[in-house]
Amino acid sequence: DSPPRFHRKFTHLNDGDSAPSSPIRVMQWNILAQALGEGLDSFVQCPLEALSWSHRKYLILEELLTYRPHILCLQEVDHYYDTFQPVLAGLGYSSIFCPKPWSPCLDVEGNNGPDGCALFFDQSRFEFLDSVNIRLSAMRIPTNQVAVVAILRCRSTGRCLCVAVTHLKARSGWEWLRSAQGSDLLRHLQNLLEKHTDRPTGAPTSDIPLLICGDFNATPTEEVYRRFLASPLSLDSAYKKLSQGGLTEPEYTTWKIRPTGECCTTLDYIWYSQDTLRVDAVLDMPTEEQIGPNRLPSFSYPSDHLSLVCDFSFKEKE
Ligand code: NDP
Ligand code: CA
Repeated sequence: DSPPRFHRKFTHLNDGDSAPSSPIRVMQWNILAQALGEGLDSFVQCPLEALSWSHRKYLILEELLTYRPHILCLQEVDHYYDTFQPVLAGLGYSSIFCPKPWSPCLDVEGNNGPDGCALFFDQSRFEFLDSVNIRLSAMRIPTNQVAVVAILRCRSTGRCLCVAVTHLKARSGWEWLRSAQGSDLLRHLQNLLEKHTDRPTGAPTSDIPLLICGDFNATPTEEVYRRFLASPLSLDSAYKKLSQGGLTEPEYTTWKIRPTGECCTTLDYIWYSQDTLRVDAVLDMPTEEQIGPNRLPSFSYPSDHLSLVCDFSFKEKE
């Protein structure tokens, strides 16, 4: 007997606007590290059996296969080499993994190695051009958080795309560190875009569209969020498009119960270049009723974070 899955629908934007294209589907998801879920997280309302790898692994793969993104950005991956890399390679994805230097997974008995960020892309849609694994710094001091950045070329349009995946420092009291890590990531992105753009250095922006997916561990009121909005890279957060008027983030991207209480908040984002990319569709969030009284993770859903899925198109050049 398998538990019910969430039935989520896409909200389509720009109705009737422009010719139908084949959009680029992007997924952002903190999948919950196996070692952390079983070992350190204390999800007190989630049955242990629902946290077992044998159960969770199929639910995670099922979620990926349900949406089949062209670009897949994951955090808390501690089963890259034995599961996600080989399984997704068989489905036509290339990938890049960057483990955290001192992953908290390593503190858990029977762990499967460090967790980290992983970027997967559909090889039939994109050609690999360049990538960097970054250890994020704060005021020049290396931290325990990382990012993967890749430059890809769309095979059908010939256009380049820069994709980043990151997972910023968790917990309250570290707002300043998240802000510094976010600034460091923006600085790296600016440098990489400059390297791949044919134009005089010092030009204000590159015309390579940017996608930044992450668990920022920051609500929309935090400094790091404001910094991304105000960055000269002209970024916006795609999930705002789900709201009436398109100005506010969803109410939650994660919802869990720990001994310290219930935590229902927005921490995960898909940032995109608003001058060069258009959001065509956004996958809605499950309702409180669908999520259920014991929240996440559960027998129905393998992570405490919900996946974010959006369809993007390149805007026509002016
Ligand atoms: P973070 O504080 O960024 O969090 C690590 C993980 O814990 C995240 O995946 C986060 O999930 C999860 N988490 C967040 N809140 C809670 C909570 N209330 N209870 C349980 N888990 C939570 O970790 P760091 O990368 O800074 O690493 C912290 C640990 O790593 C240390 O405790 C230490 O064991 C080890 N470490 C060791 C070092 C060394 O020199 N040996 C150096 C640095 C770290 P989410 O993002 O989903 O909220
Ligand atoms: Ca976590």
